[in-house]
Amino acid sequence: MHPQLRSWYQRLSPAQQEAVSHINFLAEELRAHLLLEQFYLGFAILTDAVQQLHPSIPCPSGCSTCCEQGPPSQVTALEWELMVLGLRELPLPKLQAIITRSQAYQAGQPCPLLDQGQCSVYALRPFHCRAMGYCTIQAGETRLPMTCAPEQQRIQRALQGPFPSPAFMFLPQAEALYAHVQAMEPEIAALTDWLNTSSLV
Ligand code: SF4
Ligand code: SF4
Repeated sequence: MHPQLRSWYQRLSPAQQEAVSHINFLAEELRAHLLLEQFYLGFAILTDAVQQLHPSIPCPSGCSTCCEQGPPSQVTALEWELMVLGLRELPLPKLQAIITRSQAYQAGQPCPLLDQGQCSVYALRPFHCRAMGYCTIQAGETRLPMTCAPEQQRIQRALQGPFPSPAFMFLPQAEALYAHVQAMEPEIAALTDWLNTSSLV
């Protein structure tokens, strides 16, 4: 702390010092959230560029099969904090239904946040969900599109080339981007674990 600020701080009453600490804490939290939101915004610009460069690559719009069948997304603590803001905006019966689905969740079932084919907190969904269809991911010796198996076959046909296509070299790499998300907050857990261990109502 700057010496002048420190002497000003030391002249405050304990209650005022506590208030200042609280404000600082909130400012730090806000800064972290803003960083994550800026990252999401940057990634949205990147996915637009992918879409323009390779119109055949992104998933067909309106598909939610990976939300229905995929394993629960991995979510960092900071991503979860943003998701909680969206979850708390939901009508209480919807939120309670999500919690009930999460508590009963078993592998292969739809993501508890999926509601009539739509994500309940789409604007605040975590990076893992945002990356589907737009990134590549390491698979053994090669890189493949980060997407479902039928979609990989569709892309292979659309590109009519060897698989993996050289075009994938220009797609963002999911692991490299995820390193940025985890640099903001390394704690990570499955979405269902966050849902089952947080007090949301
Ligand atoms: S990855 Fe596959 S299942 Fe998921 S949205 Fe894209 S096309 Fe649908
Ligand atoms: S959080 Fe939303 S986008 Fe991600 S799997 Fe669940 S329903 Fe789909």
